Amino acid sequence: MSELAVRAPAAALEERDDAALLSLLYRREKALLLGGPARLERARLLSARLARALRERRGRPRASFDPERLILLVTTACQLRCTYCGIDKDSGESMSEATARRGVELLMASRRPSVQLQFFGGDPLLRFDLIGSAVARAEALKKRPGAPAQVRYMLTTNGHALDARKLSFFKPLDFLIEFSFDGRYETFQAQRPGLGGRDFYAKIRRNLDALRRSGVRYYVIAVATPESVAGLSENVDYIASLGHRRIQVNYQLGRFWSRDAVRTLLSQMGRVARSAARGRFELINATVVRREPTVLNSELVIDVDGGIYRETGMFMEKDFQEHKRNFLVADVGAARLLESYAASPFDNFLLFSRLWARSGNALFRKIVLNNIEVGLAVDRWTRGLARGAAS
Ligand code: SF4
Repeated sequence: MSELAVRAPAAALEERDDAALLSLLYRREKALLLGGPARLERARLLSARLARALRERRGRPRASFDPERLILLVTTACQLRCTYCGIDKDSGESMSEATARRGVELLMASRRPSVQLQFFGGDPLLRFDLIGSAVARAEALKKRPGAPAQVRYMLTTNGHALDARKLSFFKPLDFLIEFSFDGRYETFQAQRPGLGGRDFYAKIRRNLDALRRSGVRYYVIAVATPESVAGLSENVDYIASLGHRRIQVNYQLGRFWSRDAVRTLLSQMGRVARSAARGRFELINATVVRREPTVLNSELVIDVDGGIYRETGMFMEKDFQEHKRNFLVADVGAARLLESYAASPFDNFLLFSRLWARSGNALFRKIVLNNIEVGLAVDRWTRGLARGAAS
């Protein structure tokens, strides 16, 4: 059975509440975006309904949005220069030991029995030392009474710096590696060139192969952009032909997807799903719950600067740098329990809508609304797939 069908009833109810609010806000923002007297009147009525719904929501439990995962962005340095990347890699900033340590302590103060610590970058493997000390701290803290008994580790990498020493560190800790690799050489080189245009394809492919043989848990992420989406299923098939059995498809965020591009994305995902159904590989989009729209991701990230941010703000760093501080919830040194910063996708959307209402940044609004639409379309597609599998 798909995980989509087994959510706890209370969590499902909270998520339904949140989805209803999100729908109200989406319709208001869309009316405001399109403009005209009739739509503006509609936006006014929707604002009143939204205000009522928000008053009714006050005090209701929202435990399903408590953060279970904390992401440590340990460095912005990276060997690659992916075309769709929003991280400011040239500054090459790194997280301090003290920030990483405090972040782990915050996560380990959680009331949950199990938490997840994810390392992100840049390429986090460039700060392998920091990963080692953060893990050592988490392992020590989990022995304390009342601390989460289980810490699940995850790391997202481009694979350039992956080697046997790191693999042998990850294996006994049961790390899950998210390995970004967009497929065939032409797509990879167009989307994921090295710094200065260098060609790291062969090296990264070799490292991905070593990961496959190592027994460390992993999956491959293939990113589709509006430009490359027509070749998505070929790229995924190619990755599967290299022997990789778990693959996730991501679509580029922070870009405008035309109707045609979204149609192509869904039809390509259909092809990918049919290929997966022939038993060639697991399509993670179809088997593991992802909260769409991902543009409203409400997880927490600690950035190299020691700020705790809502994840939503991070991917937009390049184009919307001035907005980043609006996603800051606390400084790691002064933070309370992570649970006190729980936010839902709707909360993030509301924050976005207030930002563009203040700044008048029409492009920002247009792109976020568009990315929400892409996410909802992908969500409908995924749920349709899950229903088909269950029937
Ligand atoms: S590997 Fe990641 S951090 Fe590096 S350029 Fe690509 S997307 Fe950005």
